[in-house]
Amino acid sequence: MNNKIYQLASLGVQQLIPYKAGKLIEELERELGLTNIVKLASNENPLGPGKKALSAIQQALLGLALYPDGSGYSLKRVLAQKYAIEIEQITLGNGSNELLELVARAFLTSEFEVVFSQHAFAVYPIVTQAVGAKAVVVPALNYGHDLDAMLAAVTDKTRIVFIANPNNPTGTLLSQERVERFIAALPDTCICVLDEAYFEFVNSVGAVDSIEWLKKFPNLLITRTFSKAYGLAGLRVGYGLSSPEMADILNRVRQPFNNNTLALVAAEAALDDAEHLQATINVNAAGMQQLTAGFKQLNLEWIPSAGNFVLVDIKQSGQVIYDALLRKGVIVRPVGNYELPQHLRISIGTEAENKIFLQALTETLN
Ligand SMILES: *Cc1c(COP(=O)(O)O)cnc(C)c1O
Repeated sequence: MNNKIYQLASLGVQQLIPYKAGKLIEELERELGLTNIVKLASNENPLGPGKKALSAIQQALLGLALYPDGSGYSLKRVLAQKYAIEIEQITLGNGSNELLELVARAFLTSEFEVVFSQHAFAVYPIVTQAVGAKAVVVPALNYGHDLDAMLAAVTDKTRIVFIANPNNPTGTLLSQERVERFIAALPDTCICVLDEAYFEFVNSVGAVDSIEWLKKFPNLLITRTFSKAYGLAGLRVGYGLSSPEMADILNRVRQPFNNNTLALVAAEAALDDAEHLQATINVNAAGMQQLTAGFKQLNLEWIPSAGNFVLVDIKQSGQVIYDALLRKGVIVRPVGNYELPQHLRISIGTEAENKIFLQALTETLN
């Protein structure tokens, strides 16, 4: 191996541990020669994309010789209407993941610190380290974010705080009141990234939408995505909502055509498909019941989740059970890299998929 090349990279990048994605169905098929594989590993929508999104993609195919609209005007206009904000407050990303990267690239240097929670989404340490900033990881409280401790960890060097609400992989949810108080207490030199990738699944009856806060917090960036509830993970489209000033900065550093044509039209059509979104939410609620009832029968504890996944404590090596489930054609997510070596994260599937998983888990544990 030529180590010289490694030494030429920045220190942060040299030490970076790449994101580990869920195992692919095709990969397991290749390895084990199995078919009928069930994948409950990446919090994808078990119903797939909605009909309106699919038909928009079909119609856009003939236009693929042309570059996409680099401003994403049409999608942004619909988002702006939906949330009653200005188009200038929106930044589109190649998945909301790109927003996390853009905010790090735009605002961090090696002088700065970034605060996030233990067990928080794995992308936060990656984007922090890639730009040479210092990660300050705050111990979790009951698997969730300890906002008091996170606030105490903020110094005049802290340029970004990441909050995932609900958090992945734990599914823990902070109340809107608590999050609002936290943001209000931050110094105005510190950006709060509020990652709401699972926003659509949260039962928010009676709670304020975080978007209300954009009026008073210019240092707030809310990120949401079409990958989870809208079933478009393969197209890579997410968005950031912020003050116009923050959006201007983020839009300066993104690639000019960061969203492809199919992603743009599908996302816009998906916003108009309330029926598919509701069906998704219903399948998720029913599946959550089904899985947790199954865990109860197996005497397993789980962390109550506000997302489309649930973290179950299997009281032994998660990696070992993960491997055993793979051999039965069921892909789930081990979370040892999140300092949760005895848990597995299970994405909620269809009733049939959940049943196959529970059967495989029962056989594996007995
Ligand atoms: C899935 C996820 C994302 C990003 O997903 P994209 O596909 O890039 O939009 C961001 N944050 C959390 C917490 C997630 O679980």
